[in-house]
Amino acid sequence: MIPSASENNHLKSDTFDSLMSPVNHQVEQTSDGQSDNSLASLTDSNRKNLKDAVRLPDREDPNEWIANNLFDFHKQICMLFGTISEFCNAQSCPKMTAGKKYEYWWSKGPDRRPVESCASDYIDHLLDWVQEQLDDEEVFPSLSVDKKFPKNFNIVCQTIARRLFRVYAHICHHHLNTVKNLKEEAHMNTSLKHFIYFIKEFDLVPENELEPLKDYIENLTSTESLETA
Ligand SMILES: [Zn+2]
Repeated sequence: MIPSASENNHLKSDTFDSLMSPVNHQVEQTSDGQSDNSLASLTDSNRKNLKDAVRLPDREDPNEWIANNLFDFHKQICMLFGTISEFCNAQSCPKMTAGKKYEYWWSKGPDRRPVESCASDYIDHLLDWVQEQLDDEEVFPSLSVDKKFPKNFNIVCQTIARRLFRVYAHICHHHLNTVKNLKEEAHMNTSLKHFIYFIKEFDLVPENELEPLKDYIENLTSTESLETA
C-alpha cells in the first residue's frame, strides 16, 4: 500500500510517483518570526492529553480532520526548522541524515533520479513540496469550493506525513543542543509527540519509517502515559 522508500535502512530515497511535483531548489519558506507564540500556544492547549486531541471529533469528516492537522503540522515544522535554520547549512549538515544510520536522498528530474543534498536543501524542497500539495485544490479542496477529496487522498497524506517526520528526525539528531539553547525543547517535544499520536491514530506512517527516533519517541510517549495516568 505505502510506497517504500528503500529496502536499505542506511539509505532512504523516495522514488517519486505521480504525486511528485517538480522540485524547486530556490524557495525558502521557513519563518522564525512567529515561532515562539504559536508553538507555546500549541504546548498549552495540548499538554493535558495529546492522545485525545488527535481523535476524530464527532461528526467531523475524517479527510477534513486529517487535512486540517497536516496544515497545522506543516506550519509547526516550518516554524521549528526556521528557529534553527541558520545552524543547518552545507557545512554543518552536508547530508540529509537522521543520525549515522539514516540518510535521505531527494529524487528529481524527469527520471526521478535520487540525488544527495545537504540537509537544508532537502528540507527546503520537502517543505515546499508539502506546501504545494496543501495548496492544490485538487488534493486539498477548500471548504468554499464544492469539491471532493480525491481517491488517492490517503496516499498523499501518508507521503506528506512520512516526509514531515524526517524534519523532526534531523532536528532531534543534529540540532538538539541548539533547540535546547533556544529554549525550544519543550515546544518541539510537544509538537513531535502530538504528531506521533496523530500519525498513529490514522496509520499514516509505518513503524519502520519511525526507526530513526525510536528511542526518543518511546521516551516522549512514556512520559505522556505517566502524565495522563
Ligand atoms: Zn542540519
